[in-house]
Amino acid sequence: MTSVLNELVRKTEPRATSMLAYLQESGIHQPDILKLMASLPRHEFVEPAFSHLAYSPTPLPIGKNQTISQPLTVARMSEWLLQYARRGRVLEIGTGSGYQTCILANLFNKVHTIERQKALLDLAMKRLANFGVSNVEFHHGDGHLGWPTNISMDAIIVTALASKVPHALTNSLKEGGILIMPIEDETPSIGCWQKTGEKWRRLEFAPAQFVPMLEGKEDA
Ligand code: SAH
Repeated sequence: MTSVLNELVRKTEPRATSMLAYLQESGIHQPDILKLMASLPRHEFVEPAFSHLAYSPTPLPIGKNQTISQPLTVARMSEWLLQYARRGRVLEIGTGSGYQTCILANLFNKVHTIERQKALLDLAMKRLANFGVSNVEFHHGDGHLGWPTNISMDAIIVTALASKVPHALTNSLKEGGILIMPIEDETPSIGCWQKTGEKWRRLEFAPAQFVPMLEGKEDA
């Protein structure tokens, strides 16, 4: 264990220790990300029946047939953002439990997040308010349509697998902006691209599992 991690773990509950070791073994070395994930109570973001598994290297149910991404996927996406994106405004599609949203709120000045399931969005809003997070705007809607007002984003992170890249999203990304989204390759994967004029430059790529991005929104 590195000295950075040792120091973190002293401030962390024992359940997060194995998760941090696993993240480091898997190539996550950015202290800001490790520190954030060490301090966030991941067990409060999953369905209560699964809270004992919250720090395991696996996706877990969060209600409404949806899952929280596994810790390594969250850590990778966050590291890429830290490495490549300007830390102004980020748009997240798929608020889910609000776990990734919480990490984004610590990395960016402003977070915009969209979720199609009202029940999940309400829960995530409550959680983030309890943690005193105040730089997040929430929207109940279909992420395919993008943010309801015309705002340019420094980065966009999509946490559900879309069948094609939604133009409403790519149009709202600034020149040089960063797009992170899952794609269906030979194996399910997550990629990181930079918008350079009409072209997209792929910067990163890794295997990862995601639930599908669905059309429309659900109220109950
Ligand atoms: N980042 C989340 C992971 C959530 S899983 C977390 O940390 O918990 C993906 C989420 O995307 C689900 O909550 C699902 O309801 C939502 N989703 C799927 N299709 C969507 C769409 N078209 N617009 C907005 N959210 C969508």
